Amino acid sequence: MTDDLRVIVSGGSMGGLFTALALGEAGHGVDVFERAAGELESRGAGIVAQPRMLQYLEERGIASEEITLTTQRREYLKRDGSVREARSDSMTFTGWDTLYRRLRKAVDDERYYEGRVVGFEHEDEEVSVRFEDGSEGRADLLTIAEGGRSETREQLLPEVSPEYAGYVAWRGLIDERELSESLVERFEGTFLFFEGDCQLILGYLIPGPDGGTRAGTRRLNWVWYDNVRDEDRLNELLADSRGVEHDFSVAPGDLRGEVERGLRASAEEFPDVFSRLVGETENPFVQTIYDLSVPEMAFDRVCLLGDAAFVARPHTAAGTAKAAADAIDLGRALDGHERVESAFEKWEGKRLAAGRQLVREGIRMGESYMG
Ligand SMILES: Cc1cc2nc3c(=O)[nH]c(=O)nc-3n(C[C@H](O)[C@H](O)[C@H](O)COP(=O)(O)OP(=O)(O)OC[C@H]3O[C@@H](n4cnc5c(N)ncnc54)[C@H](O)[C@@H]3O)c2cc1C
Repeated sequence: MTDDLRVIVSGGSMGGLFTALALGEAGHGVDVFERAAGELESRGAGIVAQPRMLQYLEERGIASEEITLTTQRREYLKRDGSVREARSDSMTFTGWDTLYRRLRKAVDDERYYEGRVVGFEHEDEEVSVRFEDGSEGRADLLTIAEGGRSETREQLLPEVSPEYAGYVAWRGLIDERELSESLVERFEGTFLFFEGDCQLILGYLIPGPDGGTRAGTRRLNWVWYDNVRDEDRLNELLADSRGVEHDFSVAPGDLRGEVERGLRASAEEFPDVFSRLVGETENPFVQTIYDLSVPEMAFDRVCLLGDAAFVARPHTAAGTAKAAADAIDLGRALDGHERVESAFEKWEGKRLAAGRQLVREGIRMGESYMG
């Protein structure tokens, strides 16, 4: 039956928190386990706050437009800084940290634990979940919301792994107070772009570290998509200042000095507004862009959601909204069916189609920008 289920969620980022909200609201008992609990509050950079997701949060009094900043225009610059193309386009942004803190606050502390899931076993109509510290938990459902590099997913789908798209995203955040007024003014109400030869850099304002959206308290967020097809160069970029080689990203403050200097020198080729932005950002970081698709999302009493199931390229601006929709639809499917199997079947059909469509859209957009 689908009433009062005991649910364990592995991963306490956006997907895990939305699952706790949506399934908790439907009366299920949801426990979230996050391997990096306590470390996420001040991480991340800018994200698009999709209207449906925001409306869901607003209806529950969790967050509203007050945590967002909206642009009314898109402008594409020429190399000399003049405007090549401008069009009206409304986009709503927030900070990953701002949204995370709101969602986290909406989930009971008693149900959000530090812990790393290392495996599970199906036992009749239950799942037994193993944790890194040797403990075990039992649940009616296990939801894997571990992101694109989920290790628990490997137990279900060992053949599925992220596929590098041939380019990386350099990223940075800077307090507007550290920038000149004229530079900040360029971004007021405007989502600004520069497209170079297989390069794309964009920037927009997001709330400050404490969520402030008033002028003087905000941050500027930039993302620079850069073609890196050569494997040796990619490995060089992903080796951090302590010599640790990463597969997917190097965190703020960990880029090697040589890489950071190279980044700033390459940014000199951009319109002044972007070269200054990159030049003045203290701890830029890098993430590889990759695609990920799973053939199934539901497996007896276990399901995959959010980035653990599909990673669409950031151009779609929909990763967080997709994780939210996966979770909200799961809550509705369980509500509307008497058996977990039939709820899962209905949910999976819908969410597989949505995930596949978004990944395709991300690839199409990426190819048009990056060649
Ligand atoms: C710290 C952080 C910062 C981010 N910043 C941005 C950003 O600025 N802009 C943007 O567009 N996207 C960002 N993202 C990605 C964004 O959250 C996702 O693309 C999207 O919201 C889907 O979320 P998700 O919960 O499915 O996956 P993710 O957000 O990737 O979260 C997965 C979570 O699972 C945890 N986890 C993994 N394995 C285990 C395990 N075995 N046991 C327990 N926990 C586990 C991870 O620590 C992580 O917190 C960020 C993600 C994280 C984790």
